[in-house]
Amino acid sequence: MYNNIFDSHAHYDDERFTDDLDALLTEFPSVGICGVVNCATDISSCQKSLEMAERFSFVHFAAGIHPHEAEKIPSDYIDLLYKYIRNKKCVAIGEIGLDYYYDFCQRDIQKKVFEQQLQLAKELDIPVIIHDREAHADVYELLKKYRPKGIVHCFSGSYEMAKETVKLGMYIGLGGAVTFKNAKKPVEVAKNIPCEKIVLETDCPYLSPVPFRGKRNDSSLIPYTAEFIADLKEMDTQELIDITTKNSKEIFGIDE
Ligand SMILES: [Zn+2]
Repeated sequence: MYNNIFDSHAHYDDERFTDDLDALLTEFPSVGICGVVNCATDISSCQKSLEMAERFSFVHFAAGIHPHEAEKIPSDYIDLLYKYIRNKKCVAIGEIGLDYYYDFCQRDIQKKVFEQQLQLAKELDIPVIIHDREAHADVYELLKKYRPKGIVHCFSGSYEMAKETVKLGMYIGLGGAVTFKNAKKPVEVAKNIPCEKIVLETDCPYLSPVPFRGKRNDSSLIPYTAEFIADLKEMDTQELIDITTKNSKEIFGIDE
């Protein structure tokens, strides 16, 4: 069994956890999980994340508007977010970004909401957790403009793109998608980006690692992803977990 596992990206407020959330989270410390960052997707998700973080000491949260939700937000959403960000268990602005894969929201609205949240992160000097799906060029351009600190989660770009992202001071978030059969680019990224620039994540309930692909994901499955990446890097799995956990804690300013 591994210990010191940190999940830098989870969605435990998803309805798929409604029935057994407390039982599941209560068990985590005994299976080696030392920290979880629950990433909000809209204002009500911020509230649920905050309540979860108040109940479980190892849960922190990120407050933000996901690109899928960017058309549905109240006009005073920045003020609402600010209230959550001031909470001591809020460690980042997220999950924010651009998604050109799904047509849930017009691109110009996504961009506006993303940019406003990047500005807020800059103003408050707080890290960001970025969602980038099929929008690499636009995300990169805005990262270059605002130079936030933080993570590009579930990194799906090329190794070249990952190197450029790291040069901007960002970290690369890797989860179950690395273990998928068709994961050529993420494998190359995982193999070649130094572990000092990588954080582990689930994005649960989505993206379970092989052999659980398609089933509900949770933080206790991180060891499957960690073993896969450690094999690629020809290093010890616990060592990979320790280094990536240290990275997460540094990014989020968590020192327990
Ligand atoms: Zn996510």
